[in-house]
Amino acid sequence: MSQEATPRLPHRGRCLCGAVQYELNGEIRFASHCHCGMCRKAHGAAFGSYGGVSAGKFRITQGQEVLHEFESSPGVTRSFCSRCGSPITWTSDEHPEHVAFTLGTLEAPPAELPGMRHIHVASKAPWYDICDSVPRFEGNG
Ligand SMILES: [Zn+2]
Ligand SMILES: [Zn+2]
Repeated sequence: MSQEATPRLPHRGRCLCGAVQYELNGEIRFASHCHCGMCRKAHGAAFGSYGGVSAGKFRITQGQEVLHEFESSPGVTRSFCSRCGSPITWTSDEHPEHVAFTLGTLEAPPAELPGMRHIHVASKAPWYDICDSVPRFEGNG
């Protein structure tokens, strides 16, 4: 193969302390930087970065017992490691077919992610300017 190395499946991820580990047995199908107020709080950052996979392709391989959940709005659940606080997943009852996982917890992220976009930029932090060429959406795109 002459192409640059593409991480092979499964993709693996882990939280900061390593207690929670997961794997993706399917390709990342979409990705976003979410600037909504809840993602900013949950990540303690200018925005939250997520990748999305088919729900059946996401599996917690270690640390289910320390993975805690928080329902941040009706039908929307965020999971995080209760030891180190790393956010791990975002799921919505409206879209049970997908799991969004936090891109920052991937061990060997691909350089290019399909469909990357900035979403909810209408709520972005006033102290942060988006300076890349990634498409932007006022709402959830
Ligand atoms: Zn942890
Ligand atoms: Zn958000």
